[in-house]
Amino acid sequence: MTTRKTFLADENGFYGPFGGAFIPDVLQDSINELQSHYYDMITDPNFQAEYKSLLRDYVGRPSPLYLAQRMSEKYGCKIYLKREDLNHTGAHKINNAIGHALLAKRMGKKRIIAETGAGQHGLAAATVAALMGMECTIYMGTVDMERQRLNVEKMRMLGATVSGVEAGTGTLANAVDAALMDWCKTFKETYYLIGSAVGPHPFPDMVAYFQSVISEEIKKQLMEKEGRDYPDYLLACIGGGSNASGTIYHYIDDKRVNIVLAEAAGMGVHSGKSAATINEGKVGILHGSKSLVMQDDNGNVLEAYSVSPGLDYPGIGPMIANLATTGRVSVPAITDSEAIAAAFELTRLEGIIPALESSHALGALSKLSFKKDDIVVLTVSGRGDKDIETYLKNK
Ligand SMILES: *Cc1c(COP(=O)(O)O)cnc(C)c1O
Repeated sequence: MTTRKTFLADENGFYGPFGGAFIPDVLQDSINELQSHYYDMITDPNFQAEYKSLLRDYVGRPSPLYLAQRMSEKYGCKIYLKREDLNHTGAHKINNAIGHALLAKRMGKKRIIAETGAGQHGLAAATVAALMGMECTIYMGTVDMERQRLNVEKMRMLGATVSGVEAGTGTLANAVDAALMDWCKTFKETYYLIGSAVGPHPFPDMVAYFQSVISEEIKKQLMEKEGRDYPDYLLACIGGGSNASGTIYHYIDDKRVNIVLAEAAGMGVHSGKSAATINEGKVGILHGSKSLVMQDDNGNVLEAYSVSPGLDYPGIGPMIANLATTGRVSVPAITDSEAIAAAFELTRLEGIIPALESSHALGALSKLSFKKDDIVVLTVSGRGDKDIETYLKNK
């Protein structure tokens, strides 16, 4: 990992008008403690060495950058897939979990808590807790526990307690509430391992940094394969924005690169069944940070819906909110059926079954028009094993 000289957020954690730390007073000390340990850690060569070696030998990085020939022919450009689906535990979430776990160890914490939607982050958190010999509790909506049974059983096998959250819609946003509530009571011994680039500062910055290995590798791999280190297009999906942040991290200031981030439109934007936060949201505060939030006229947070349990979150990380409102990134909203069709297309053309979340990025390809020489890099954030039942129901 390159040690960076500048942070993308200002010192109070703001990306333009978005971000900050809107937290109860009881958490102020632990947020300050977290921030100072984090800044110390990422400039420490011992951390860099340990993190790098775990990413290589435990996660299996670098993840391949694969030239998808038949997809390229279909779309009339050169499409490379960044294969985060090949990571240990099946998604990009483990990059972040390992960074946090090393920080938890450094801070002397004995217990890890986390929230999860699709179960991929819960699985990554339970995995690193086992690796570090720490106690672990995962908060998960009861509806999601039903939808993602296999991941629940894997977390239990890893020794984690999976705590079902019945409140609200029984999905991701409720699980985040429950995890934050636990943390307010137990912060002395507990580390909150957040799963996306959301939450109070410094979490969004930390998560983006731990995921930035994705774009660091893309640069090297493109240089080897194409003789230039930047693509014409970068594509990723956005739930809270972690795989997207990692994919674009080292390209944000490079205007040669068009950035297209797909969010989940569910049954359609403004259908009342969507998770298209950037297309539909208004400025508000959710889970400790100011960002775009799906809300009604009275400021009540709306239920988000997507067929993909990793994307049905009514908020979005502040960094992506800022890049979208300033026009640096474009954000097409992809429906359930467009995503599912794109998943079948990748499966049949390349023999790769993608996660439903990643399929939203694939669904954005048909919304763009490419030139023959265009180089496109699309991050496949995870593998589709967890989604097979949904795919079979919709084939
Ligand atoms: C969790 C998840 C996502 C969405 O989260 P981001 O923080 O937006 O990356 C996307 N893809 C997969 C495979 C996931 O598990």
